[in-house]
Amino acid sequence: MDTILLNGRPVSISLLEKLKGRINKLSTNNVVPKLAAILVGNDPASQVYVNSKKKVFENHGCRSETFHFSSNFNQQEIIDLIEKLNQDDQIHGILIQLPLPKTLDSKKILNSVLPEKDVDGFHPFNLGSLLEGNPTFIPCTPNGILEIFKFYEIQVSGRHVVIIGRSNIVGKPLFALLAQKFEIGNATVTLCHTGTKNLKKHILEADILIAAVGSPKMIDGKMIKEGVDIIDVGINRIDDGSSKGYHLVGDVDTDSVLGVANSVTPVPGGVGPMTITMLLHNTVVSAERCRELELSK
Ligand code: NDP
Repeated sequence: MDTILLNGRPVSISLLEKLKGRINKLSTNNVVPKLAAILVGNDPASQVYVNSKKKVFENHGCRSETFHFSSNFNQQEIIDLIEKLNQDDQIHGILIQLPLPKTLDSKKILNSVLPEKDVDGFHPFNLGSLLEGNPTFIPCTPNGILEIFKFYEIQVSGRHVVIIGRSNIVGKPLFALLAQKFEIGNATVTLCHTGTKNLKKHILEADILIAAVGSPKMIDGKMIKEGVDIIDVGINRIDDGSSKGYHLVGDVDTDSVLGVANSVTPVPGGVGPMTITMLLHNTVVSAERCRELELSK
């Protein structure tokens, strides 16, 4: 069997092309979609993520402003800033770069973002709406995975999806989305985690396998059913002697599933490129909603 590599880049390019017209239309009405990114502490990976988001926004006619706090900042000052940004008409999306330092109450900070500006889709109101089948903002990584299914015409309806990992940002929203009676959904979904007994049995039963664990190459070609479609969300740094010092691998041993799986997303270059694209998408949607609200006044 020839395994199809589900590259994220063409999916991302095609979506960005579609967004271009919508961004231009907003700009003729003097609206520039703008993200406020809040970064706390000096985690180098978080700084890289925030900078790449800013670059993508600016390269596509949008704006992104970073508000950087040192780790010893008072939590209330961060919440005061969020409340100010909630009221600012020029800001359409507010992103809190995770993980936050452990000294802060992440839940309290995330919940202080107005649901209408929660372009990451992490606010309990938005997660609840998604569970109800009426999503307002779909979290970016799960939304990117839906776009990969659509672009590569991977059938989801009626199939058995096995998700490994139940985080609020990937596993749980995907579980809720793929079980809905949606065009990309309507699947039978099994959600696995560290409490799952006989994980291998579940993996072997999957028609679609989604790995969001953070465990390098934990799934190999001997563990899967022939013809399965695999979405590898994992991003794991492996230290090596290269000039960069490390390389990235997924939760799936990609080479070993070639010839067994019907398709697999590579790491890097699969799900990764979709996440920032969907953040831009959600911010444009938010700017369009603000504009409509303005017109209806
Ligand atoms: P979390 O650490 O929040 O969650 C990991 C999940 O995996 C938990 O639910 C945990 O179970 C489960 N798990 C861990 N070990 C096992 C095991 N041996 N067997 C079964 N389940 C296990 O991770 P995230 O969801 O935030 O991220 C997962 C991976 O995806 C990471 O590598 C991350 O870097 C990557 N990622 C990639 C993104 C992208 O843009 N491509 C975006 C977001 C994340 P339990 O709940 O029981 O502890």
